Amino acid sequence: MSKAKERVVHTRTTPLSSLKRKGKVLASPASGLNMQFSSWINDAIPEVLWSLLAITGLPREDALGSFRRILAKVRENKDALDTRRLEHSRLAELEQSVFNSLFADECAKQDFSIALSPLLLLEALPDRKYWEALLPKPDVERSWSRLAETVARTFDHQSQEATDARWLKITTVAALGKLHLPTSMAERAREFDEYPNRGDMRSVRPSIRALEMSFRPGVANEKRTPWMDEFWQEGWQSTECVLVNPDDEATRANHAALFDQLATLYEALIEHFLETIDQTGIDAKHDACFGLTFYVLQLLFFCLKSTVGQALPGRIALRSAVECYIVLAYLAHNDNPTVWLQFRNYGAGQSKLAFLKRLDQDEVPSFISSELLEQLANQDAWMEFQDIKLGAWADKNLRNMAQEAGEKAFYDRYYDALSGYVHGNWSAVSHAVFGLCLNPLHRFHRVPLPPRLLIDDAVPDLMKIGNLALDKLAHMYPAFKPRLREAHSKTSAEKAAK
Ligand SMILES: [Zn+2]
Repeated sequence: MSKAKERVVHTRTTPLSSLKRKGKVLASPASGLNMQFSSWINDAIPEVLWSLLAITGLPREDALGSFRRILAKVRENKDALDTRRLEHSRLAELEQSVFNSLFADECAKQDFSIALSPLLLLEALPDRKYWEALLPKPDVERSWSRLAETVARTFDHQSQEATDARWLKITTVAALGKLHLPTSMAERAREFDEYPNRGDMRSVRPSIRALEMSFRPGVANEKRTPWMDEFWQEGWQSTECVLVNPDDEATRANHAALFDQLATLYEALIEHFLETIDQTGIDAKHDACFGLTFYVLQLLFFCLKSTVGQALPGRIALRSAVECYIVLAYLAHNDNPTVWLQFRNYGAGQSKLAFLKRLDQDEVPSFISSELLEQLANQDAWMEFQDIKLGAWADKNLRNMAQEAGEKAFYDRYYDALSGYVHGNWSAVSHAVFGLCLNPLHRFHRVPLPPRLLIDDAVPDLMKIGNLALDKLAHMYPAFKPRLREAHSKTSAEKAAK
């Protein structure tokens, strides 16, 4: 499937057209709900770990059977438990005898006790001493893998295993007599009782999850416990990172043929430049038109090296090419001598500004010399005669220029994702700098990678933009036929489809 035809259907995503605008914010669909989010991963998983080990370590029916028998014990020990649910920090507050009456029968079953034995790896587990009395000594190597697998399978708070554990949490509250549902929800209460055998799971499961969220820190009287952090701390200290480079399969694109093609085209465009000037004075339109096109082609030229086109600088080059093309399209659309001149004078004015600022500075940047700045500022006229225009050169932002030039669709295609790379937005930084640690016990944190080759190449986009710029130029200065042809560099979508 080519990138142009790529249609990814995100069933859980609200389309852009349905998002409501509030001032300068496109509000998320959840922002209207008065809901306090707290974290299933950070806070809930450590506290319900024993149930997660059971649901992931035993056949589901067996685990749910154990949960139901434990719930019956909860009812029997209602007074001793008071408001305490079956969470590690709360279980630690019980007497050993109460703890045993809840869990001893189930732990006498070998499968159940083996499934829960990885709990004993965790030094800071609040109710550790109680479990120690009931569970066999864990096989260290195997048990860390079991813990990692358990977290991996329940990391998504909507997974079946996570939902089962969340069901146990709310039915524990019900067994303690602390869950008060309105009479209108009598059927829902029966569905909870008989989970997962009554009602439509497509509606029962979400309502379990919604209810469970009200028993997390940050909601009502729920408080964070030290164990919520200690669990993740132990995972971090006891297990190694499993670092993954998301672009592991990137191969260097071979642009040798394109390189020759571009060199020939560039030569031909120089010829065309010389053929289309009729005098040597200032021609703002001719210079801008050819200049911007050559600029795009140069950006492409340097991106033909895979260390550029398939790396971070390729995105920055592409963003620059996008802007050049929109500016060219805007200029061509207006095709007005004043506007062409405005574009040119703005550039000279900026050089003057930079030059004058530089005179006051002790430390100067390395990428440009004072001589060059002065030369650029004085190119058309002595800079003393030049005004410096502040703000945008056409008094329009790029979006408005694109709109006016009929290039809004082009702008939408490229602008947002690319600009991040120039501005160092978080998403761009995250993509360029970090890989993912796939150890679930490390909560899939980010780890910096060395500068790397990316699977996706900026070159096909730069070729398209180069051709678009050539189309504009050829329209204003006919006839110029050469264009860049796909030499072939596969997109990641095509690679994946292979
Ligand atoms: Zn890690």
